[in-house]
Amino acid sequence: MSRGDHNSRVRLFGTNGIREVVGERLTPPFVVRVAGAIARTTPIGPPILVGRDGRTSSPAISAIVASTLALAGHRVVQVGTLPTPAIQYNVLRLQAQLGVVVTASHNPPEFNGLKCIAGDGLEVLRPVEEAIEEAVSREEGLAVRYDAVGEVVDDHQGAQRYVDGILGQVDVAAIQRAHPRVVLDCGNGASVVTSPTLLRRLGCRLVTLNGQLDGTFPGHLSEPTPENLADLVRTVPAVGADLGVAHDGDADRAVFVDEKGTYLPGERILTLLAQEFVRRHPGGVVVTPVSASQSVEDVVRALGGEVVYTRVGSPVVTREMQRRHAVFGGEENGGLIFPAFQLARDGAMTAAAVLELLATRGLTLSEAVKDLPAYTLVKEKVPCPVDKREAVLEALAASATREGGRVVTLDGLKIFVEDGWLLLRPSGTEPLIRVFAESKQPERARALARDGLERVGAALAALGA
Ligand code: MG
Repeated sequence: MSRGDHNSRVRLFGTNGIREVVGERLTPPFVVRVAGAIARTTPIGPPILVGRDGRTSSPAISAIVASTLALAGHRVVQVGTLPTPAIQYNVLRLQAQLGVVVTASHNPPEFNGLKCIAGDGLEVLRPVEEAIEEAVSREEGLAVRYDAVGEVVDDHQGAQRYVDGILGQVDVAAIQRAHPRVVLDCGNGASVVTSPTLLRRLGCRLVTLNGQLDGTFPGHLSEPTPENLADLVRTVPAVGADLGVAHDGDADRAVFVDEKGTYLPGERILTLLAQEFVRRHPGGVVVTPVSASQSVEDVVRALGGEVVYTRVGSPVVTREMQRRHAVFGGEENGGLIFPAFQLARDGAMTAAAVLELLATRGLTLSEAVKDLPAYTLVKEKVPCPVDKREAVLEALAASATREGGRVVTLDGLKIFVEDGWLLLRPSGTEPLIRVFAESKQPERARALARDGLERVGAALAALGA
């Protein structure tokens, strides 16, 4: 699926890199074109690091990427199969100027993709991707002479470097003393090579589900939804575990099941750890997208901290965290960011941080989250022609501003009301506007969502759509 742009450039990168179906759009020539464009937009200099997730197509695609870069004159370090955050960590540690990650994160098995990591370990922002997209559309010569071909070396220490790094971030002795029983669901994804080792070294008594790398995802699809994690939900109480943790396919996310077998939505752990880090760093800044639950702001403000909102998408969140020297950040989908370690969504670091919190406080996971503010989030959508979306949102922003109250227009339109909020956001891929509404009272959340749908409908009618 190609998304046209203002000029001849074709948009390839979505919010989290390129994602395509293998054998359809994602073919060898396509990979060569993109890797060639990355090669041309990167000056010859420090090496480029290439890593991959555990999909069936990942070894072959990363071999094409590495070969294309080397034949264009770049030195390449191949780190093999690793979680995306481990690749980000190694980009910085190995002083690479860029990382290329072959992954489709949590997508179904037929997908794969590419994303780029800057030399500082952060995901690259749109301008870098735009430069690559422009280079893709220019069919320029690529190969260098035999005496300028870059060398390709393999590095086998990436997993250990990353696990050691996380162990340096938490109170290992406290977790070892607590000796928690943990069920880990790797979902047959990239976390297989790091999370079991990490949890064992933290002193956990470990039961592992789907703990072998298998890109057909035989256990369940790799999006960590409650439906996909039914086995984990059942196993945690069945084996008397203290908690369950699951990663998505590239392990930049972690979601949790408490000791009673209750699946905790991502925003619960986001809120729990936001509270924890602001407690440790009084007055600290927490960065999260406009779609995050109000519970984050509630707990952070109560401790004198500050919440900074961004557009949706982890590259934007991490850059804002860097700019604001944030103490913590993340998304409500379980992608949490620990800046003292690295500015990357990090599933294994999240697991270690939760285990540390429980061990040092002597709490069970259900006790730890029980007093957090609880909200109901309602998600709706309303059809809206793509060419009308901007005008609709502008009209709605103007009327919301006239009504008074707090309005945030970073990404769509977020209207704060006394007992909740309403977010109207254009979909990135479909002709519709998404309506999110949140309140402590479920009925109020539903009423806010209805109000949102009506506002969009009225604005469309006024525009004659
Ligand atoms: Mg992911």
